[in-house]
Amino acid sequence: MNRKIFIKARDLFLHLFFPRTCFCCGRDIPKSNPALLCRECLLKLERCEGLICRRCGLPLKNGGAYCFNCRGGKASKYKCSFIRSSLVFNEPSRSLIHSFKYEKYTDISKFFAALMYKTYKENPPYFEADFLMPVPIHTRRLRERGFNQAFLLAKELSKLNGVEVNDILIRTRKTKSQTSLGRAERKENIKDAFALKAGADVKGKAFILIDDVCTTGATLEECARILKENGAREVLALTALRE
Ligand SMILES: [Zn+2]
Ligand SMILES: [Zn+2]
Repeated sequence: MNRKIFIKARDLFLHLFFPRTCFCCGRDIPKSNPALLCRECLLKLERCEGLICRRCGLPLKNGGAYCFNCRGGKASKYKCSFIRSSLVFNEPSRSLIHSFKYEKYTDISKFFAALMYKTYKENPPYFEADFLMPVPIHTRRLRERGFNQAFLLAKELSKLNGVEVNDILIRTRKTKSQTSLGRAERKENIKDAFALKAGADVKGKAFILIDDVCTTGATLEECARILKENGAREVLALTALRE
């Protein structure tokens, strides 16, 4: 049989019995293609780089050094001194995170970790860090979901950059979803939601907080506040997506 016809027939067979579709638009993907997204959706993924805020990594349409929330000396008042994200939050990146978190396609963590490793390597402030620290979720949510997405991202990233995962930060109360909340409400909602495990010592250590999505940075800031108040030297953050 002609090889091309053979491949087509094989893909058709595989597709009939083991259909594979794009995680974003649902278009068929040939079984021989290991990508998570179809070509069109892959092309829409956008790296979060170029014109971004020097502290929080927010994309800045009109350029400048800092975003509104970090400019005018405000950058130095944050406990989390540096945030970068790998991809801009858009339709295909959101679909991937959604399938990862809510449909339990945990292998997607490897895809994001590879991108986060690239972001890590491009930003020297990260090189001083002693530990990766996943943003914790509440134990009740952990039981429902079966895993903490931030922990899986940290674990996969750690395999690539060799920085140890440290999960001594815990969630002390279950908070409302931040999705529908504004900036001030998010800050209030997440306040005092974290603590260190009993006996944990973070003195003099530098951490990279790891999470799936950064929106206003309120969650990262609250984690950083706990770490800094307990003597951490530096707290940076790296997320898969930036909203
Ligand atoms: Zn697609
Ligand atoms: Zn900023």
